[in-house]
Amino acid sequence: MTTTTATSTGLHLADITLTYPDGAGRLTALDHVSLSVPAGTITAVVGPSGSGKSSLLAVAATLITPDSGLVNIAGTDTHGLGRDELTALRRTTIGIVFQQPNLLPSLTAAEQLQVMAHLDGRSPAKARVRALDMLDAVGLADQAERRPHQLSGGQRQRVNIARALMNDPVVLLVDEPTSALDHERGAAVLDLITTLTHRKATATVLVTHDRSLLTTVDAVAEVHDGRLTAPAPARA
Ligand code: ADP
Ligand code: MG
Repeated sequence: MTTTTATSTGLHLADITLTYPDGAGRLTALDHVSLSVPAGTITAVVGPSGSGKSSLLAVAATLITPDSGLVNIAGTDTHGLGRDELTALRRTTIGIVFQQPNLLPSLTAAEQLQVMAHLDGRSPAKARVRALDMLDAVGLADQAERRPHQLSGGQRQRVNIARALMNDPVVLLVDEPTSALDHERGAAVLDLITTLTHRKATATVLVTHDRSLLTTVDAVAEVHDGRLTAPAPARA
């Protein structure tokens, strides 16, 4: 019935509306939101608390099905996919970095990453090599055997980012990665995410309420009451 003109790379959200139950009525969290993020670029989404940023990421991650609108990930239209197909699509194409790292206290940094590769059916030896490689990419080559309590907040967030990149996602979704960090460490984490986006050619959406950190991103869109402005170049 519908035809999409989405390209075969990147992330494309078209005319997304999402409502939640709210007492007797519905609360509109996303109101006809459209967003295209080409591969190898990073778009920041800024807006006040409660404006719909996390809802936008949840829809892009296919964790929530919107009331209407289309989500296209690297040419795959998610509309009509079943639960198992969505799970497989997420595992192979989407990396998610939540606000809280959610690292397992008993595992070393390398093991946190190896778990992801195990889910993807890789051999333990290959998973180990890949994990060390990704820790190196986020500047933690010498911290591989440390457990979360032996790492700083910034280092834990780097492990979180490395873990999201383990399975080579085409889409990287990052929710307020710097909220627990001071300005300097926040800026360094943002720098890292931008560098990895360009190097790994991910289509990255980064949610933040801290505009002052957005010096390295490719575009910035604002969300207010579920409505999104068209992304503008960050340094226009
Ligand atoms: P942000 O991440 O920008 O703070 P959210 O996407 O979390 O915003 O929330 C957008 C709006 O949707 C808010 O009004 C919030 O209270 C509401 N909301 C978010 N999640 C739910 C939910 N699961 N059920 C009902 N309302 C929700
Ligand atoms: Mg949020």
